[in-house]
Amino acid sequence: MQLWETPSGDKWVCEECKAEIGGRIADENWRLVFDRLDPMLRCAICGHCDIEIDD
Ligand SMILES: [Zn+2]
Repeated sequence: MQLWETPSGDKWVCEECKAEIGGRIADENWRLVFDRLDPMLRCAICGHCDIEIDD
């Protein structure tokens, strides 16, 4: 999951959503803060986590 600094605050964004909103990232000059693989993190856009846990 990547943490982005955006005009409306910091947001965690997954790879899938990053590809979808790529134009917005460029238009609004989002800045990548850091990338972290953590199953507890949820994407601010789709609400899913990086790692799917099967039970
Ligand atoms: Zn997402």
